[in-house]
Amino acid sequence: MKLTEIINNKKPTLSFEVFPPKTDSVFETVKVATEEIAKLKPAFMSVTYGAGGGTSRYTLEIAKDIEEKYQVPTLAHLTCVSSTKETVRTRIKEIREAGLENIMALRGDLTPELEKSDRATWDYRHAVDLIRDIKEVDENICIGGACYPEIHPESANQAEDIRYLKEKVEAGCSFLTTQMFFDNNLLYNFLYKIREAGIEVPIVAGIMPITNANQVDRAIKLSGSFMPQRFKSLVDKFGDSPAAMKQAGIAYATDQIIDLLANGVNHIHVYSMNKPDVAAKIQSNLSEIIS
Ligand code: FAD
Repeated sequence: MKLTEIINNKKPTLSFEVFPPKTDSVFETVKVATEEIAKLKPAFMSVTYGAGGGTSRYTLEIAKDIEEKYQVPTLAHLTCVSSTKETVRTRIKEIREAGLENIMALRGDLTPELEKSDRATWDYRHAVDLIRDIKEVDENICIGGACYPEIHPESANQAEDIRYLKEKVEAGCSFLTTQMFFDNNLLYNFLYKIREAGIEVPIVAGIMPITNANQVDRAIKLSGSFMPQRFKSLVDKFGDSPAAMKQAGIAYATDQIIDLLANGVNHIHVYSMNKPDVAAKIQSNLSEIIS
């Protein structure tokens, strides 16, 4: 099923993201975890694509498994910056042949090697190039793109970031999923600006439940997200107790989600980090709110 059929209406949705393993040895463990999450019957699930494409086979296998066994619509991520046109086109065809209808089109992060190489030799410089390619291969694929309420780290300013975001939407993105954020006001401000810029596609809010103190540094490093004092206090107080930190992190994410829903942000995507218990707890916390 195309995700636009799910998120183009105003009914609130809860969806989960999972990531594929890096090696064969943990494939089965990850598959079991993703299936546990699928059994929760979220509105959809996204399956990430390992940096540089190293896990592409697993992304496809897991996404296909979730759709076929659990009838949960999936969104297969695909990155392009470190790949050739030929490889990317093969991946797009594989996704279609697996019966999947949705692709999250991403540029991917720049590795130090890529940074040093001559950009003129790259087949893809930005996600917009991938979006145009997907449209060329199959006009009917439903495409999502990434957006950054706190600005992409490489952007000079928000106006520039939003200008390029609009280009992605015009190239064929039917919806946008946000980078994680921990202060909802940043999202509300971003929404105001993109709507003013004429970007009208649905926005899916990405929420990362921080369930252990070690995750904090990594999340900030990856996303550059602002940590509100309220969140920092929680980590200071409960960071040393894994069980308490987990409970507090889930409560914080739940609170964020309820505020988003109360303010008309209807589509929530939880970065569930392959943790079925965390996904299940958030879902049960919202059982009377998102049904
Ligand atoms: P782009 O849209 O290309 O933007 C990157 C930068 O280039 C921005 O600063 C933008 O303003 C600028 N830009 C865009 N278009 C142009 C243009 N035409 N000319 C000049 N500048 C331009 N990474 C993975 O490896 N695998 C994943 O599965 C994955 N999933 C993700 C899911 C979400 C929801 C998000 C938010 C990120 C994800 N990422 C993933 C990380 C992502 O690959 C990085 O954030 C990457 O640095 C940017 O990808 P993008 O698609 O947003 O790039």
